[in-house]
Amino acid sequence: MEKLITLENVSKHFHVGRKQTLVAVNNVNMDIYKGETLGVVGESGCGKSTLGRTVMGIYSPTSGKITYNGEEVKVKKTKDRYEYSKKAQIIFQDPYASLNPRMTVGSIIAEGMEIHNMYDKETRQKRVYELLETVGLNREHANRFPHEFSGGQRQRIGIARALAVEPEFIVCDEPISALDVSIQSQIINLLKNLQEEHGFTYMFIAHDLNIVKYISDRIAVMYLGNLVELADSDEIYEHTLHPYSQALLDAVPIPDPEKESLKERKLLSGDVPSPINPKPGCPFAGRCPKATEACRTTSPELKEVRPNHFVACHLY
Ligand code: SF4
Repeated sequence: MEKLITLENVSKHFHVGRKQTLVAVNNVNMDIYKGETLGVVGESGCGKSTLGRTVMGIYSPTSGKITYNGEEVKVKKTKDRYEYSKKAQIIFQDPYASLNPRMTVGSIIAEGMEIHNMYDKETRQKRVYELLETVGLNREHANRFPHEFSGGQRQRIGIARALAVEPEFIVCDEPISALDVSIQSQIINLLKNLQEEHGFTYMFIAHDLNIVKYISDRIAVMYLGNLVELADSDEIYEHTLHPYSQALLDAVPIPDPEKESLKERKLLSGDVPSPINPKPGCPFAGRCPKATEACRTTSPELKEVRPNHFVACHLY
């Protein structure tokens, strides 16, 4: 498969006080392939959204390098960010907060095309109508305002806005977690169909392993800013290696109530530790049932332990 994006030792830190550093993303290495969906999962605060925003150019990495089609992504200058934002778009978790309430839906969708000088005014208008239809809305919706729509419809508007500049890569940052369960599968199916039609590459961020399994070709598991496991979707479910991934999977309910009641759970104890000035050693050591002394002092490196299956754990 052809690489679209490569992350080399990418870290993102935030200074949160005197001598205090919040390590949101720590030394992440991975490739994202053209046309795939890479699911990124982990509990809240694990750095998955910061990773998505860094890959998409909203943040520049504190250290490390991101390349897109072989060229280094530089987003510190407005001009560079502007160019990259035509290739890489984002769909946010909360579709209402991300849509300007004072703009009509048509203007929201057209804005990116205007910024990138795409098409003349008449063609842009036509594209707005086409995009509304593509996402399951209709042209009459162009003159309305975001508050007139349901959550699911607002997410469809967010998707139309992302598609308007004809990107190649889209970060879907928990795009369904704010929606009713009944609407979630509609949005997932819409994203899947759009990918089949246009060949988009997705980074799909979620905390729900069920949804990630359904949509992803590969899955990356993050814990406290670190990539702890990465493999093909089927492989990671059949041969879960990292103790944290095993705990996440144990938390997913089985649809069959009989099997569910017999299931032995190894639930996580304790809370996710603070990402401020993290301790040395494995980030999961404080909660891991298999931790040894070495885990508290030495960070495990991410290594390939089965074909295309990478894990960061001293057990392997
Ligand atoms: Fe657990 Fe040690 Fe593996 Fe970390 S390195 S996940 S603490 S066994």
